[in-house]
Amino acid sequence: GTVIVAIDGPSGTGKSSTSKAVAAQLGLSYLDTGAQYRAITWWMVTNGIDLTDPGAIAAAAGKPEIVSGTDPAAPTITVDGTDVAGPIRTQEVTSKVSAVSAVPDVRTRITELQRSIALAAEKGIVVEGRDIGTTVLPDADLKIFLTASPEARAARRSGELKGADVNATREALIKRDAADSSRKTSPLAKAGDAVEVDTTELSLQQVIECVVTLVEE
Ligand code: C5P
Repeated sequence: GTVIVAIDGPSGTGKSSTSKAVAAQLGLSYLDTGAQYRAITWWMVTNGIDLTDPGAIAAAAGKPEIVSGTDPAAPTITVDGTDVAGPIRTQEVTSKVSAVSAVPDVRTRITELQRSIALAAEKGIVVEGRDIGTTVLPDADLKIFLTASPEARAARRSGELKGADVNATREALIKRDAADSSRKTSPLAKAGDAVEVDTTELSLQQVIECVVTLVEE
């Protein structure tokens, strides 16, 4: 049958690297739900939507067409046919994505999209995000909640950003996680039946092995 794996946690815990590698090893599809929230945010920024106005965000939520390619070896994301894999990683989008993703109409739309992608995955899928185990796919076969110390998360993230200031990166991460954890609609949260894995002292390879073992159990 198909297997559905939900991997949630704050930023910088290794969710994306882990999820892609686990999906590739097990021959499953892969979905980065953060990329979808970033894509809708990119569209709103590009189209001049007032992001201080939740009503304006809600009114625009249905407009962009977001398509995710789910091959873990080469995941893709397009908005109205345009490849936005690069532009969704800018600091501007990163600093604005929490405000956009807190709007209930945005979440409803993106959640429906995520469920239809998961349902269409032939062998199964690894879905990574913040609310996958709690809200998007509450019947997932395995739920993982990744954590790591703020220092480890900031160090990993500034490594990815090549030379970004570690302190500024840590402050920005903590601020985004606080916003994502405190929103009213499906906040960043650990599902009651999720397995928590603290990655602070683990290598990426160790985390991957741990999750693969849990899937195969
Ligand atoms: O995973 P990533 O850091 O790319 O996610 C970007 C943002 O998208 C998060 O900070 C959060 O605001 C939002 N998000 C969400 N729910 C998800 C995945 C991401 O609200 N399932």
